[in-house]
Amino acid sequence: MQTQLADFMRGTPEGEEADAILRACVHCGFCLATCPTYQILGSELDSPRGRIYLMKQVLEGQAPTARTRLHLDRCLTCRNCETTCPSGVQYGRLLDIGRRVVERRTRRSLPERARRVLLQKGLLNPRLFTLGLRAGGALRPLLPAALRAKLPAREEVVPAWPARRHARRMVALAGCVQPLLKPAINAAAARVLDRLGISLLESEEAGCCGALSWHMNDEDAGLAAMRRNVDAWSRRLDEGAEAIVITASGCGAMVKEYGYHLRHDPAYAARAARVSAATLDIAEVVQREIPRLREILRKRPLSHPLPRLAWHAPCTLQHGQKVIGVVEGLLALTGCELVPAAEPHLCCGSAGAYALLQPEIADALKARKLANLIAGRPQAIVTANIGCLTHLQSGTDLPVRHWIELLDELLGR
Ligand code: SF4
Ligand code: SF4
Repeated sequence: MQTQLADFMRGTPEGEEADAILRACVHCGFCLATCPTYQILGSELDSPRGRIYLMKQVLEGQAPTARTRLHLDRCLTCRNCETTCPSGVQYGRLLDIGRRVVERRTRRSLPERARRVLLQKGLLNPRLFTLGLRAGGALRPLLPAALRAKLPAREEVVPAWPARRHARRMVALAGCVQPLLKPAINAAAARVLDRLGISLLESEEAGCCGALSWHMNDEDAGLAAMRRNVDAWSRRLDEGAEAIVITASGCGAMVKEYGYHLRHDPAYAARAARVSAATLDIAEVVQREIPRLREILRKRPLSHPLPRLAWHAPCTLQHGQKVIGVVEGLLALTGCELVPAAEPHLCCGSAGAYALLQPEIADALKARKLANLIAGRPQAIVTANIGCLTHLQSGTDLPVRHWIELLDELLGR
């Protein structure tokens, strides 16, 4: 695609990068077939190709409008289009640039700005978030059904973290909302790794991965979170930790890109790249220990009956991190039956704060995803990201769980 960047972009690092990405797009439209918003809305401007055109116009000097911003806001950043694209267009990186430029050159209404700030602050502040959860719990019967469905159903029973210490150590990212909504997930990861001879350590000095702020176009807050985590984890790696282990694939996709986001910061570039290289999704960690897992299963076979499961691969795992087929392989190793589900590539509509900002599209995608998952009559749905888990759970009575919790439970039988 030919480009003619406007003066305000030409010669800047952002401009150079956007230009190279735009030029790679050959306008073939293959990506439309797998784009969830195009599937739901059917409009070219809500497809990857349409959004690429909108961003090109803005980067070439056309003034963006509220309508331009709306089409970019509606993108889930699921990166399904990147997986589909035969030309290797790095759509996610272009979207980051396009959204930032459009955000700077348009003004949201006061209520919209207030809603976004409240959402960002509320989700990132553990005290505010806990307060919100408690208030929601107390007012549950009075809340509209849609909001009630988003509240956790009951208090979590958190299994104990292992007490013994192994020579092999890894560090866990706690994250922002996961420890409050589902603290059992990291505890389960620690218990599974303990059986595999690895200690998983909590890292209180690290916090939110930065994805929430980053995807709400608050670049400064996103970068500040990344720098804080790079400082914390660099120390842990210096002390001998083998890896940073992440149980929320949305956070994992972000941390694996720290090196890219901080590449122009001389004080952080090298350390951020080291942190990204040391970051693994919990599925990648367990996959590396398959011989030990096989040995455990051989010595102590799992008691039957084993559950029939439907697997939902989060976009941040399959399209963001390109970790494909790993969880399915691990679950198959346990003997659990995985029921087939149509459209495994499609987003469930969660996408960080998206489900709260674009509820109609998010709910339509959730209904479509759940229909596909439930068609095979599973006894539970398993996934790998807290956002997908809570979003899907709000639409079904079937249990929706993190697969590592299930593995922990099966190994403890
Ligand atoms: S992003 Fe890729 S698949 Fe989509 S129109 Fe451009 S080249 Fe084709
Ligand atoms: S990231 Fe997802 S929603 Fe956005 S354009 Fe690509 S496929 Fe569509």
